[in-house]
Amino acid sequence: MSNSTKYIFVTGGVASSLGKGIISASLAKLLQARGYSTTIQKLDPYINIDPGTLNPYEHGECYVTEDGAETDLDLGHYERFLNVRTSQANNVTTGRIYQSVINKERKGDYLGKTVQVIPHITDEIKENIQQLSKEGNYDIIITEIGGTVGDIESLPYVEAIRQMRWEFEDDCIVIHLTLVPYLAAAGELKTKPTQHAVKQLLEYGVQPDILCCRTEHELDLTLRKKIAKFCNVVPEAVIESRDAASIYDVPLLMQSEELDEIVLKKLGLSRKSVPNLDSWKSFLHNLKNPTSEITIGLVGKYVELKDAYKSISEAIIHGGTANLCKVNVKWIHSEKITKGNVDEQLSGLDGVLVAPGFGARGITGKISAVRYVRENNIPFLGICLGMQCAVIEFARHVIGWDDAHTVEISPESKRPVISLMEEQKNISDMGGTMRLGAYKCDLKSDSKIYDAYNREIIHERHRHRFEFNSEYLKDFEKHGMIATGINPETSLVEVVEIPDHPWFVGVQFHPEYKSTVDEPHPLFTAFIKAVMDNKK
Ligand code: GLN
Repeated sequence: MSNSTKYIFVTGGVASSLGKGIISASLAKLLQARGYSTTIQKLDPYINIDPGTLNPYEHGECYVTEDGAETDLDLGHYERFLNVRTSQANNVTTGRIYQSVINKERKGDYLGKTVQVIPHITDEIKENIQQLSKEGNYDIIITEIGGTVGDIESLPYVEAIRQMRWEFEDDCIVIHLTLVPYLAAAGELKTKPTQHAVKQLLEYGVQPDILCCRTEHELDLTLRKKIAKFCNVVPEAVIESRDAASIYDVPLLMQSEELDEIVLKKLGLSRKSVPNLDSWKSFLHNLKNPTSEITIGLVGKYVELKDAYKSISEAIIHGGTANLCKVNVKWIHSEKITKGNVDEQLSGLDGVLVAPGFGARGITGKISAVRYVRENNIPFLGICLGMQCAVIEFARHVIGWDDAHTVEISPESKRPVISLMEEQKNISDMGGTMRLGAYKCDLKSDSKIYDAYNREIIHERHRHRFEFNSEYLKDFEKHGMIATGINPETSLVEVVEIPDHPWFVGVQFHPEYKSTVDEPHPLFTAFIKAVMDNKK
């Protein structure tokens, strides 16, 4: 345990989507590999309490932690890179900050004072940052501020950073991520946007210590010196962040830029050891040297926005790498699949994954996709709504219940094979009220899921309101779909399989959230292996 936690703030300038999350995760990886216990936190300036109620088109996937927090997708990167669990404390929004301050005001905690952005909101922000060090005894906390400096809504966060730098002096540094665009007509990289971005930060009283410059071309020494001179930093503190083939290259690119070295120097920390990145490098080697290739179809309704399925696509990369297999993903829009065109839409695929989701849009396409893979012996993995679609499809086309449905879409169905969970029946608020977080599940031996995990008890994360209706379990089992994973406390069916199929597994939980570079998820690894075997 360290006596004083060190704080690294990561802010963004010039434009959004520069990849603060990946830079933060990569830096954390390098510091972790040197033996520093490190965590990352994301502060989101929007007013929603959490992203749970947000449409995935807004900010991409909603990532769920072990403790059931619905969080920003960057937390997924943190877990995948560090292989360390995050929790609610790792993601705080403006909504949450204000909610807490307003609750305190109602309780009379402010003793008659006028409650203001400074100091009350900024104090609450600072408390949330420091809270993390109390919870985890971390040597280093990296706090990423969402959005771009200069946005009205991120002002209180920048102000909180300014105050913390003053209070914590040498225990606190700021890394500003900017863009150095290439003007093709001039044939030049341009530093002016970076200069302006830093000027903006200076207006708020914050001098960045390190500049990470996103660029498509090499940032040569002359340019680095120029940026350094205009922005009051040493040239070594100007870090080039080039576009990489894979996000998993970024820690090594940052290492060759010596980002970790300059960070440790600025924080007054010893370099400890040379970072041990052996397992990371061996993952990268396997990722880049596959010995086989398959194509999987990912059926979902948000396929135009790949970020909506971030954890699934990363888990596929991890599972493929574990099998030395290059997995091509064909994104298939569930709304475009019809009974008439399903064979054309899914032709040539070696395996199919039907994605999670909410609501009616695209569900008939998902059900048609399941029917096609079931009848054509194509390996299938259904996740959450994907599993529920597999149950509905089986009820309709194997058992013969034409009107079988989920009550989420058809509350009047005579065969509600997916029904509302008992504990959900009296809930009316939408935010944070689903069945969320990790739950235990017992696996039946002699099943595909047991073979994948090779253990009897697992814990997986959930995010849903509806469940397999156990009233019908006997009918399903009689016709050949069996329950192979059951929650021991509630008896909820968590996994269904069709043993008489090469590989057909539906899971009510979300395995994708727990896949990391160091520990590729066993279910994705097994699914990909099954697809490879079936292809042979
Ligand atoms: N909409 C379904 C439910 O709430 C499935 C949710 C999901 O796929 N995450 O049960």
